[in-house]
Amino acid sequence: MNRSTWIAALGALGAAVTFPVLAQTVKVTPLGGIDGEFCPHDRALIFEDPNGTRILYDPGRTVAGASDPRLGKVDLILVSHMHGDHVGNAHNKAPNSGSCDKPDTSVSAMPNSSAVNIALAKKSKIVTGSEMPAFFAAKLKANGGNPADSILARFGGSVTIGGVRIATVAALHSNGLVPDYIGGELGKAMKEAGIAGDVGLATGFVLRFSNGLVAYLSGDTGITADQELVVRNHYNAKLAVMNIGDVFTTGPTEAAYVINELVKPAAVIPSHANEVGTVNGKVRPGSRTEAFMKAVKVSAHIPLSGKTMEFDSAGKCTAGC
Ligand SMILES: [Zn+2]
Repeated sequence: MNRSTWIAALGALGAAVTFPVLAQTVKVTPLGGIDGEFCPHDRALIFEDPNGTRILYDPGRTVAGASDPRLGKVDLILVSHMHGDHVGNAHNKAPNSGSCDKPDTSVSAMPNSSAVNIALAKKSKIVTGSEMPAFFAAKLKANGGNPADSILARFGGSVTIGGVRIATVAALHSNGLVPDYIGGELGKAMKEAGIAGDVGLATGFVLRFSNGLVAYLSGDTGITADQELVVRNHYNAKLAVMNIGDVFTTGPTEAAYVINELVKPAAVIPSHANEVGTVNGKVRPGSRTEAFMKAVKVSAHIPLSGKTMEFDSAGKCTAGC
């Protein structure tokens, strides 16, 4: 080969090698209460790995049960903790039912939870930390599912499923299992005594997708030293989903501190605002969402329901933001 042929050959090789790498983005689609808005109950996100693996994070109440057409294929379900707004004790009648501030979440998912009902219908695996796997295994078994589909990822370890490595990290929160999931005489006695079942600590997640993107999903948490020591220093998360709702979790000021000073990702998606965060797709003036967006120093992207955002391995939003 002469020199120009070599250059042409190298160019072709370069194109063949780099083009698919550039195309490898993780798609993040919020399944919220109202299309195009960020509403009080919004927690659920679908992460789609470049290899096609689809992960549902905290179905909560805005996914309209297992028949919600927005779900599509669901390979894995991640549940950060057992509170009803995350595991789904009730859910929207249909996507977009009710309004952003007054959703129609009149469909009960008790005593199974929406996460279990979706897993049964979609044959998804459920990945949790602490002592939650035993609960989900029992619910799957009791409803004709496979208890082995409930998989453990406890602090410090990880599991890789569908090409995505999943680890749990500490979330400073509570994680009581309300007695309505337990039922019977035991559930009744617990309810009367005002105590919840012990399923271990609440968690966040760190996901490593097949394109190399590392994402931190905070779950409900306060400020923790682990956000710097573990999430940033060890896992090197480039994308964060950060809960901002205050009262139950970090508020906008604390969440911005976590992002700016501890996790320091390239991009953040606020979540769990517990308020009407947007009107006509624009951040509502005077909202906690606005306070967070103003305080945070990295690229921040509002999770508008149904709007897919794409992130490259460095946590940069390449489409849909
Ligand atoms: Zn919550």
